[in-house]
Amino acid sequence: MGPSHALSGAAVWLGGTWALAYTDVYHQSPVEIAVGTAVCAGAALLPDLDMSGRVISGHGGATIAHTFGRVSLFVAEVLEKFSCTVYRATRMKHDPHRDNGHRTLTHTLVFNVAVGAGVSALCTEFGKTAVIAVLFFTFAMALRGLFVKWAQRAGWLIVTLVSAGAAFFAYERLPGGRGYPVLGVAIGVGGIVHLLGDMLTRHGCPLLWPFPVGRRMWRCLGVPDSVSVKVGGKVEVYVLRTTFALATLAAVGYLVVPVVLPASAHAWIAHTVFATTSGK
Ligand SMILES: [Zn+2]
Repeated sequence: MGPSHALSGAAVWLGGTWALAYTDVYHQSPVEIAVGTAVCAGAALLPDLDMSGRVISGHGGATIAHTFGRVSLFVAEVLEKFSCTVYRATRMKHDPHRDNGHRTLTHTLVFNVAVGAGVSALCTEFGKTAVIAVLFFTFAMALRGLFVKWAQRAGWLIVTLVSAGAAFFAYERLPGGRGYPVLGVAIGVGGIVHLLGDMLTRHGCPLLWPFPVGRRMWRCLGVPDSVSVKVGGKVEVYVLRTTFALATLAAVGYLVVPVVLPASAHAWIAHTVFATTSGK
C-alpha cells in the first residue's frame, strides 16, 4: 500500500494547505508548500516501518523498510520486535496472542502525535542539523512511495544521494524566520492519514491504545468487513490512487491559479465547505 499511503498524505496536506490559504488562516510560500507536501507524503509511510522483512537476503518488508537498503530493514526488524514487546506487555486477557508487532504500536494515534511533537521539539532545539535530517529521511521515504518503480531501479544508494541533495537544497530555500513547527505537523498528519487508510482495510488499526475499547487494549478499529478495501486489490490500486492523485492535482491547481474560478464558485465553496468553521 506504499504508493496509496504516500499519495493520500500528499493529497491531504495540499488540501489542508489550500483550505488554510483560502480561509486566510495560514499562508505558505511555494517552497514551504512543496516541502510540507513531500514531508507529509513520506511520513504517511512511517507507521509501516514495523513491517520487517529478511535483513540478510533483503527480501520482504514494507516499501519503507527498503528506503536505505539493509540499514532500514534492520531498523524495521528492531521496531517490529519492540512493538511486539509493547503489545505483549500491555495486552489484556481478550487481546489475541501475537508473534509479530506489525500494526500495533506505530499504528496508534498516541505514537504518531508523539513522533510529530518530538520532531517539532528537535527542530526547535537543534535547528539546521535536525531540519536537514528530517527532510532527508522524509524525502527518501516520499521518493520510495511516490516513485516506486524508479526507486527500485535506482536502488538505495541513488535514493539516499538524491534525498540528501534535495534536503540541503530545500533547507537553503526555506524561510527560517518562523521556526519549523510545521515539519512536525506534517509528520503527525502523514502518520494519521496512514492510520485512516489502514482503517479502510479488513484488519483496521488499534487507534486508541492505550485506552481500552470493549475490554481490549488493542481493539482494531476500522470500516465493517463488508465494505473494507483489499490491500493490493483493484479498488486500492485504481480507485483510491486515482482519487488521491486527482485531489493532489486539484489542490495544486487551486493553489497555483486561484483566480480561474468564477466568483460564484468561490462563494459556494466558502459557504458549503467552511460555513461551520468561518461562520460565513
Ligand atoms: Zn500500516
